[in-house]
This record gives sequence, structure tokens and C-alpha cells, in this order.
Amino acid sequence: MAPKKKSYSLETELVLNNSNDQHNASVAPLYQSATFKQPSLSNMGEYDYTRSGNPTRTHLQNHMAKIMKAKQTFAVSSGMGCLDVITRLLKPGDEVIAGDDLYGGTHRLLSYLNKKGDLISHHYDTTNTELIKSKINNNTKMIFLESPTNPLIKVVDVKTITNYAHQFNPNIIIVFDNTMMSPINMTPLDLGVDIHYESATKYLNGHHDIMAGIIAVRNDLLAEGIYNIINSTGCGLSPFDSWLLMRGLKTLAVRVERQQENCLKVAKFLQNIGFKVRYPGLKSHPQYELHQSMSKGFGAVLSFETGSIPLSEKIVENTDIFGIAVSFGCVNSLISMPCKMSHASIDSKTREEREFPEDLIRLCIGIENSDDLIDDLTKALLKSGAVKINNKDELFNAVLIQPKL
Ligand SMILES: *Cc1c(COP(=O)(O)O)cnc(C)c1O
Repeated sequence: MAPKKKSYSLETELVLNNSNDQHNASVAPLYQSATFKQPSLSNMGEYDYTRSGNPTRTHLQNHMAKIMKAKQTFAVSSGMGCLDVITRLLKPGDEVIAGDDLYGGTHRLLSYLNKKGDLISHHYDTTNTELIKSKINNNTKMIFLESPTNPLIKVVDVKTITNYAHQFNPNIIIVFDNTMMSPINMTPLDLGVDIHYESATKYLNGHHDIMAGIIAVRNDLLAEGIYNIINSTGCGLSPFDSWLLMRGLKTLAVRVERQQENCLKVAKFLQNIGFKVRYPGLKSHPQYELHQSMSKGFGAVLSFETGSIPLSEKIVENTDIFGIAVSFGCVNSLISMPCKMSHASIDSKTREEREFPEDLIRLCIGIENSDDLIDDLTKALLKSGAVKINNKDELFNAVLIQPKL
């Protein structure tokens, strides 16, 4: 037999099963056990207590290390759990640089730690590469990046910022939240970052039936620090959720492919009507090329402005297929108003400073039939009075009434 290839493409790796199970089970088994008996007092086994380690979680972590091109990965109880673990690597007085259009929960946790004195956080527009370069100094210990940001869909030049920071001081830890793209589109460790984390509640699991987070690290030193924190605080992902995440992961490639295809169609539909649409897959996106240079795809989250808060509210409340819900990455399509929902934890003054449009609608596209999705949106746009159609059979040729954008 020819020697086995070391690694395959991500699509193949996602479904390959290398569990080495004693019974050759084609799906890795679930060890729903909190403790493990030891062979003897002098001969301790690999596992003793699930907070420290569990075979089902280990299987997931080894699998994710291949998918995320990481030295090691760690599965924890949520995406925010990842950030909690990572920030515990810092000491009081350490300074961090973070974006000004971060995920709402990230903003809330960094603000809390800043207030408590556990770290000093500075928020800047991370799409302004020169600005970020100028802010890096001897006290900078960590830089938090996210791209594209959500829901403003701003793209960050990860490679340039990372290279500059590491040249300035190789010990600066660059942390990248890749929840919006998932490893199928982007493997940030390849771009030079030190820690890649993402909320597995989104694309990785894809079915909105568990909360989870994955932390992927570049080297053993970071792995050791992260492991000690997880073992001490007990936020490692439960065996059952680890098992469910393994199941969801198998279809990551096909789900994301279909979701992106649908999302591009919806983005073009809304743009053709005349809305201001933010989606990195549209050539009109100001950073289309920068995004393309880092990522194989565009994700399935877009946002658009209607020019009026009450109009946006009516549109959101008049869809049938789109559920009014926070989150994204699921097989179902969702609609939301970030200012009232996912980003309500950012106060309105800060939102205003960051030019966050209060009328913004976010769409998170699923795997449904794209014509059904466009049909549903058209009906909501008509009911809300945002558009009129000239010909009843021509739902796809709706025309924006007002306001003119
Ligand atoms: C959802 C999300 C998180 C937080 O993940 P949870 O699993 O909800 O804790 C962090 N970052 C981004 C970009 C997210 O979308």
C-alpha cells in the first residue's frame, strides 16, 4: 500500500475519521464520564478527570488542530469562554489594542476587564493599518483583530499588522477572532497570528444546538498557558457537546459553500433595488481585494441600511423564513437589527462615535432555496412599504420607493 498522505484538503479532512477506536466504530465514541479509573497507584492512565481531559474532547481538539492548521487547539464552553481564557494570559497593567467595531460580547468583556484593572484596553479602527502601527508601543502585549467585522463588515489587513507588530516585538500576541469566516475560508495562523479563536456556536457546529468555542495556538508555550487556565477554571467543552460539534463539523464545507452562494444572490438582489449593502463578496465593497487576498470565501453575513429605523423594524418583523434572532452560521436564515439585539451592549453614544447606523439590518443566510429567501424578503419589503413592484409577476424586480439612498 502506498504511504498515507500527511494531510488532505480541508473538505476531506473534515469528514475523515481517525478515532483509532478499539471497535473500529466509524464515529468516534462519546465518553460521557467525569472520572477515569487508574490502573494502579503507580501507573496512572492518560485520563483521570474530565475537567483536565476527556477522550471525546481530545478527539475533537486533534481534529480541529488539522482543520485550523494549529499546533494545538482547545475546546471550551463558548466563544466568549475563549476570550476569557486568552485574556487571563495577561497581567494587570498589560496594554491591549482592539478594534472599535468588535463583536458586542468581546467589547463588553474587554471593557469589564479594563474597568477592573486587569488590563488596559485601547480601541481603534483596525482597518486603519497605519493608525494601528503608530499605536503599538513597548507596553502593548496583545492585539485583538476580527475580520470582516460584524455587522459593519469592515476588513482588516491582518498580515501587515501582524508582521509589523512581530517585528516591533516578537512577544506581542496577535489574537484573531475568525468566527465570521470559519477555517474553511480563512486559516489565520497561516497569516502569522499567534492565537486563532472562534465561536463554534456559529459555522463550526452550524445547527444552533450547542454553544462552544475553539482556541487554536501556534506554539507549545501558548498551548501550555491556555491548557493550565482551562484546567484551572473548568471551562473545557463537555463530552456530549464535543461529540455534537464533531458531527456538525462534517458538513462545514458544504454548508458554508451553499450559504455563501445564497448570500451573494441576496446581496446582489438588495443592491440592485438600491439599498446600501455591506458584503465582502460584492465588488462594490471598498476592501473587496484585501478580503480576497486573505480568504477563500465571503461568509454568509451581510448588512444593509434602509435610511429609517421604523422602516427597518417593519422589514424585520415581516419576514417568514428569516427568524428574528441573534447569531449566525446556522443552516437557517436569520434577520436582526444589531442596535436592538446583538450590539445593544454597546451604548448608543459609542455606537454613534463609531458611525454605527441605527437602522442597520443584518441578514445571516442559511442553506434554504435562494429563490424562497429572495421571495420572502421581497414580501417583507413590500409589506413594510420600502419598495413597490411594477409587475406582480416580477418579484425580483422590486424598486425602492423611499428614502432615496
Ligand atoms: C458569537 C460570536 C462570539 C461569541 O461566541 P459565543 O459562542 O456566543 O460565546 C465572538 N465573536 C464573534 C465574532 C461572534 O460572532
